[in-house]
Amino acid sequence: MWLSCGCASKYVVSFSRRVFKSYFHVLGRWRCNVPAFMPEAAGFEGVCGHSALQEFSVSNSASFWAAAARQRLNWISPFHTTQDCDLSRGEIKWFEGGKLNVSVNCLDRHVHTCPERVALIWERDEPGSEVKITYRQLLEMTCRLGNMLRRRGVRKGDCVTIYMPPCPLAVASMLACARIGAAHNVVFAGFSAEALAERIRDGETVTVITVNQGVRGGKVTELKKAVDTALQSCPTVQQVFVAMRTENPVAMTARDIVMEEEMQKEDLVCEPAAMDSEDVLFLLYTSGSTGKPKGLVHTQAGYLLYAALTHKYVFNYSDGDVFGCVADIGWITGHSYSVYGPLANGGTTVLFESTPIYPDPGRYWEMVQRLKINQFYGAPTALRLLLKYGDQWVHKYDRSTLKTLGSVGEPINTEAWEWYHRVVGDGRCPVVDTWWQTETGGICITPRPSEPDAEIVPGMAMRPFFGIEPVLMDTEVFCVCVLLTSNDTSGALCIAQPWPGMARTIHNDHQRFTETYCQPYPGYFFTGDGAYRSKEGYYQITGRLDDVINVSGHRIGTAEIEDVVNQYSAVAESAIIGYPHNIKGQGVYAFVVLKKGVNAQEEELSRQLNNMVSKKIAKYACPDFIQFVHRLPKTRSGKIMRRVLRKVVEQDLNGLGDLSTLDDPAAVEEIIQGHRELC
Ligand code: ATP
Ligand code: MG
Repeated sequence: MWLSCGCASKYVVSFSRRVFKSYFHVLGRWRCNVPAFMPEAAGFEGVCGHSALQEFSVSNSASFWAAAARQRLNWISPFHTTQDCDLSRGEIKWFEGGKLNVSVNCLDRHVHTCPERVALIWERDEPGSEVKITYRQLLEMTCRLGNMLRRRGVRKGDCVTIYMPPCPLAVASMLACARIGAAHNVVFAGFSAEALAERIRDGETVTVITVNQGVRGGKVTELKKAVDTALQSCPTVQQVFVAMRTENPVAMTARDIVMEEEMQKEDLVCEPAAMDSEDVLFLLYTSGSTGKPKGLVHTQAGYLLYAALTHKYVFNYSDGDVFGCVADIGWITGHSYSVYGPLANGGTTVLFESTPIYPDPGRYWEMVQRLKINQFYGAPTALRLLLKYGDQWVHKYDRSTLKTLGSVGEPINTEAWEWYHRVVGDGRCPVVDTWWQTETGGICITPRPSEPDAEIVPGMAMRPFFGIEPVLMDTEVFCVCVLLTSNDTSGALCIAQPWPGMARTIHNDHQRFTETYCQPYPGYFFTGDGAYRSKEGYYQITGRLDDVINVSGHRIGTAEIEDVVNQYSAVAESAIIGYPHNIKGQGVYAFVVLKKGVNAQEEELSRQLNNMVSKKIAKYACPDFIQFVHRLPKTRSGKIMRRVLRKVVEQDLNGLGDLSTLDDPAAVEEIIQGHRELC
């Protein structure tokens, strides 16, 4: 019933009688709350809508998740304890006693029912050269790789680093690790050798999987060479599997193995390891915008269940849809919504290898037309970039297959939201702004976690997903839980109870995990982000808490000022930073990037921007300084590196910190230079 692969499933009948009995027992209790949006709820009377079901999922968390886990996952043996969690100590366990294999859940059960369904569409860098991989083919690839890794000594519990661009072999490598019980550690292939080395060392990896070269935006990147450089400082690595993305040979050393050749020697059947629910599935390092990247650990059953459920309901994904998440597999968005969520649901998912502007700024929309994409999921940074180029790049292509547009990674400013909705979606596709983090495993707050027609307020993440209980805490009294219970209020965003998809720890540093997420507000999961809860009870993410500034006693989120500045027609994007000010406590410093081809007097522009901020927010929010720059320093996932900007305006150049995750270090130099001239 809950299996989304539309064909009759053998797996439903293979559920044990005990599982079925408890399923009906649970459904019986929440039958009146099950809304009609759930196909499996057909026939149930007394639908009470999203909030009723959401409330049920929070107040009866164990029953809700137990039913979901029994329905949506295939178990080798059933779990005996749904949850055993103590948030204050960061001890989180779900579905204990249960054994399963994630790759079986993502592949075998769909191969049984619909082997020729397309699992992956590899959208290669050159438009029109896509490759389709069916569930049967992906299972075969995964099995060969699983056997290869096993034969080469990779054991259950080992950690394998994958340094590859989005491609079927990368996905098969992730699933092969899952099949044999190894943990994967995917490192974004845009990272430098230095950043890769740090993650290999921290992950204590013996085996690395890579490609000879990457191809992105028409340019070839030397990924194998980057691995060679990284390994100079990673003595533990014993073997490197190299897949051939291009035909160009690369220098091979004694520890290197040509992956495709090795795979051919292997059998197409690979016995899946029976994994405990709480065994590690993967580690993944955060994007590093706030400091030293954290290797967050996700485990098997809870993560997979949460990724699958959110993928289905947040995006209103139906059988046969083509899901287009353009995030790289090196980020959590790629893990949960290019790989695990769609595959667990038997879906067809796009792996995007290119950039939003290659070969031109129409790339996304040409791809939507060609691949008939139904759900498109991207980041505000790309939307801001694309809207600079004008609407004609969108209008050129047929986007009538689109049903849902998703946004993730940063607050989406009003101008980008409206453009996405009005121009890309022709005003008919809902925009789901999805708030979540590497730590949360999947989407936590989003406009349509269930009802397809629910109201959406532009720029708001709106409603919690099932099982998520967001709360706001007073930020003035840190380390004491002063719960803000009223609406129309802002505070620190915390989550009041555990959910299956949350990270379990930071690799080798549980203390850092508890200090960062559990201790700031004991008994709650602290997200580090701020949020506003409207009169109606909807949530709006205001940005990271350390991006809230206090000007002459007024607390204001820098995102709010940016939103106004970005609405000015000449502005492409901006970053607002607080800096120490003798009188006001903190002053406002603006970095502004202008749209292409804008040729205006900076003084006049500054005056107009100040007028706008004064009119739309307040005089105190007006920038004291406006520095016009060509680009902002960003992480490789496209997020503005605010801590670097903060250090520049605080004139603390020795404190710039870890810059290895920066996309373009030259941007920092330009900013330092411009700052010197301005101040
Ligand atoms: P690090 O923790 O190393 O600084 P990071 O927080 O950028 O890196 P991610 O886990 O990829 O790494 O990003 C999660 C963060 O991105 C959230 O905490 C939030 O600040 C921001 N974010 C994600 N989605 C949204 C959204 N829809 N609206 C606003 N902010 C968002
Ligand atoms: Mg973070």
